[in-house]
Amino acid sequence: MRFTFASRLFAGLLCLGLLANCAVNPVTGRQNFVMMSESEEVRTGKKGAEEVRKEYGVYDNPALQRYVNDVGQRLAQKSHRSNLEYHFTVVDSPEINAFALPGGYIYITRGIMAYLNSEAELAAVLGHEIGHVTARHSVQQHSASMAASIGVALGSILVPELRGGAQDLLNLLGNALLSGYGRDHELEADRLGAEYLARTGYDPQAMVKVVGVLKDQELFDAEIARGEGREPRRYHGLFATHPDNDTRFKEMVGEADRLAQPKADSRQAAYLAQINGLVFGDSPSQGIIRDSRFLHDGLGFGLNFPPNWKVKNSPDRVIALSPENDGQIELHLAGPARGTPADFLRRSIRLDAGNELETTPINGLPAAIMSGVRQGKPVKVGAIFFRDQAFILVATAKTPAAYNRHRTAISSAIDSFHALQDSERKLAKPTLIRTRTAKKGETFANLARLSPLGKNAEGYLRLMNHAYPSGEPQAGQHLKTIE
Ligand SMILES: [Zn+2]
Repeated sequence: MRFTFASRLFAGLLCLGLLANCAVNPVTGRQNFVMMSESEEVRTGKKGAEEVRKEYGVYDNPALQRYVNDVGQRLAQKSHRSNLEYHFTVVDSPEINAFALPGGYIYITRGIMAYLNSEAELAAVLGHEIGHVTARHSVQQHSASMAASIGVALGSILVPELRGGAQDLLNLLGNALLSGYGRDHELEADRLGAEYLARTGYDPQAMVKVVGVLKDQELFDAEIARGEGREPRRYHGLFATHPDNDTRFKEMVGEADRLAQPKADSRQAAYLAQINGLVFGDSPSQGIIRDSRFLHDGLGFGLNFPPNWKVKNSPDRVIALSPENDGQIELHLAGPARGTPADFLRRSIRLDAGNELETTPINGLPAAIMSGVRQGKPVKVGAIFFRDQAFILVATAKTPAAYNRHRTAISSAIDSFHALQDSERKLAKPTLIRTRTAKKGETFANLARLSPLGKNAEGYLRLMNHAYPSGEPQAGQHLKTIE
């Protein structure tokens, strides 16, 4: 389902004559020119939900899922569309994000949960997303050009049967879901979220706190990004774009204060008990990235991507990008190993020219490598059989010149596929959040030395304890540490 702006406009005009296609906005009570009926909206959300499951994976902790769902359902019942069936899911991603699909499918990453410090703050994030659903923002805003702005999955084009869900998801729903809807919609979602907080018995000011936390997060990431020479990350919508001292934002949240109950409990202890043991950073079931190394304890293999390349992990593939973004290596698990690696490549890969095929074991494992050109771009595809599974590595570059520059790095990466060594197993273990009370004399510098987070540990610990940039733990306060 890809809507261009022109087709939306056209549908809008059509709408004048065909009122069945118009919908009353549940929040404003006014007619919106939207193309979807509520049942279509729910169908679209349901389809998207399958893609989200594939792309992100659901975090495997039923108790936490139940808790988040309960908080979400209580808010949704007080919303402008309490008739919808809502679904709240924690996705297994270290990214800091939350998003809503049309029709009431709402997602929060475990990554953002690490930085929240109370149930009220969790409710603020969920309430904001419910606001997008009740105001029908995702239905109003579909844009193919936005979908196109997220990276190309070259491997997925080369090996169509390996096509992952990510591109489908983006085509279906657009980038707006993942990166926000623009200032007016974001402010409206904040206003609605604050209202739902108040109606559910939370302090609406939790919305302001969450924006403050994410703002600090952004400042910290900008600091690290400068050191690493990369672009800072940007988070969902207004969380990214507006400062917590924004007057319009404060006014909107302030409006909800009149609905709030005096002395609302933020339920901090309840929240921290729920996230005790939460995975922080990469997930062991999806493989762990350590610098440019990718280690997968479950599947039992390791791979060294070129040093300084950015490695991104998602459930159906791992992608490494060169620092200049002109070279890419993708790793897929392609299914059961049948025949030989060379047969496998001949069967599944079609190149325009070249198709030069060499069969050489890689670190003692059966393997084959095909080189050639596809859509004017040089490519190298490796197939490696390991423990009855076929792994495929697809390497390519934007131009032949870039490919030549990266040629050696690409070959070394493909040749580095290996069975996990005992010494690597320890590195492949996840880091976990632990919650407890602070002892007298504890400092973030001390806690950082005991944590496995490496050089930025002190900053991370301060952020997750709302003590950025210079606070210290006070004896007896709730404290999150990383083990
Ligand atoms: Zn938003």
